[in-house]
Amino acid sequence: MTLTHLNASAATLTKNRTEDSISPFSGMCTTCVDGCIGMCEIGKSAYRGAEMIYPQPFGIITTASQKDYPVDLSHFTILGRAAGAWGIEEDSNRALFPAVDLETTIGADNGIRYKLPFTVAAMGSTNVAKNNWPGLAVGAAITGTGIAIGENVVGMDMDSRFADGKVISSSDLEWRVQLFREWQTDGYGEVFVQANVEDTMLGVQEYAIKKLGVKAVELKWGQGAKDIGGEVKIKDLAKAQELQKRGYVVLPNPSNHVVIEAFLT
Ligand code: SF4
Repeated sequence: MTLTHLNASAATLTKNRTEDSISPFSGMCTTCVDGCIGMCEIGKSAYRGAEMIYPQPFGIITTASQKDYPVDLSHFTILGRAAGAWGIEEDSNRALFPAVDLETTIGADNGIRYKLPFTVAAMGSTNVAKNNWPGLAVGAAITGTGIAIGENVVGMDMDSRFADGKVISSSDLEWRVQLFREWQTDGYGEVFVQANVEDTMLGVQEYAIKKLGVKAVELKWGQGAKDIGGEVKIKDLAKAQELQKRGYVVLPNPSNHVVIEAFLT
């Protein structure tokens, strides 16, 4: 029995030709026909190659797993109780929802004060992250919690300026920090700046701490199935070449004349 959906998914914009008749081992149609245009992942990858690595439509989605886990929280019933109280007096007039105190602090010394004990996960350089930064950053700020600015924001910002390979200004990073600060109340919460390998190389956290007054940072070691780093698609040759100059791995090599000619034709 397989618990994973095989060979066809909305995440890859693929389908089986025989949707009601699928091999459970491979996810292929029970009868794979010569001449099929290749609607499934196996067929489509034969035409599109490495592009099938990306969830699609690329750039405007976030993705979730389709795996059928054999156990989930719906298998448990959580029962409350009507007697006793923890963290507050056993008094029906005082043990009210608004009286719940979830404040906490994280970090060294006196720490960063949180009104609620969670941090909003890092939102990086992608369009999805940038477009939703105002809602998430302002929401985190007025909630009194933390939010992290994710990887590659400086590197992908074509307005960023560098000296000796280190960032000295990034309007995108500055905008994200300032937006959180404008809505932060009573010093609760904090905006973190994450760094992956390239951010570290470009001195992003040093810049954020010294120039933007950021008090907390996060080192990125991996994400889900990725061990490290992220991937983006670049549609602009000049941008691809600039990213390569900034130290990013860009494939195929945008400085190679064969690649340039292929891109331009
Ligand atoms: S390539 Fe074969 S398995 Fe894939 S959709 Fe077509 S018929 Fe089905």
